[in-house]
Amino acid sequence: MALDDLTGKVALVTGASRGIGRAAALALAAAGADVAVNYRSRGAAARETCSLIRGLGRRSLELRADVSQAREVAAMVAAIEGDLGRVSILVNNAGIVSQKHLAEISEADWDEMLAVNLKSAFLATRAVLPGMRAQGWGRIIYLSSIAAQTGGVTGPHYAASKAGLLGLTHSYARHLVREGITVNAVAPALIETEMVTRNLAVTPEVIPVGRFGTPEEVAEVIVMLARNGYITGQTINVNGGWYMS
Ligand code: NAP
Repeated sequence: MALDDLTGKVALVTGASRGIGRAAALALAAAGADVAVNYRSRGAAARETCSLIRGLGRRSLELRADVSQAREVAAMVAAIEGDLGRVSILVNNAGIVSQKHLAEISEADWDEMLAVNLKSAFLATRAVLPGMRAQGWGRIIYLSSIAAQTGGVTGPHYAASKAGLLGLTHSYARHLVREGITVNAVAPALIETEMVTRNLAVTPEVIPVGRFGTPEEVAEVIVMLARNGYITGQTINVNGGWYMS
């Protein structure tokens, strides 16, 4: 059976103003999808992503929403459905990181990390699922991290949020497996984005291949998961050989 054609499908990529999210949005557009571009604060960058998508001949829409807020996520998905149509592909990518000493991680740090990185995935999935179920087709892709597998270099709050996404992946995948909806996680390590270059004290030498990864190397895997109907409940590692499963 051929891989699924993404032409005319509507994708929502959260945190698509820059980094991995922008690369995923462009790769999905190049594969034929119309793409809704979510961001939190960088409107100009999100508009630039949209204009690059339109340059590929696809429709696009930029949407400001804090993905940790239920009302904002629901309003965002309603706006996409009204403009582009029902969401068929969710790339739950928006995320934050902070590298702190263990004793410095406050309850507020924990709550913010879990809300932006993990609760967001539940909120976005809940909002797009009725549309996917009605179509009998859907692709849900969560951006986890090597931190879920090894603890990583950031902190327990980040690692826990990313490990939580793997539980979410397994549960949704199991519940939705007969409905044409696949659910998978991508676990990158040290991709050269602002998250790494501005926030983390790390150098490429820690990676076995000896360099940071590129957002495009992650985006390619996201498109593969969007086109493949037989992979579900899996974690795909894109980590330069740092963690081998
Ligand atoms: P990034 O360059 O820091 O970009 C983060 C994106 O998330 C931006 O578009 C940002 O929007 C958006 N965002 C942050 N908080 C948000 C919120 N509350 N609501 C809506 N949007 C929000 O990050 P990245 O490196 O591309 O990482 C993308 C994902 O991959 C994250 O989930 C990250 O944890 C995961 N990941 C990354 C790496 C890596 O090495 N880079 C490794 C493992 C996992 P604004 O531009 O508007 O601020």
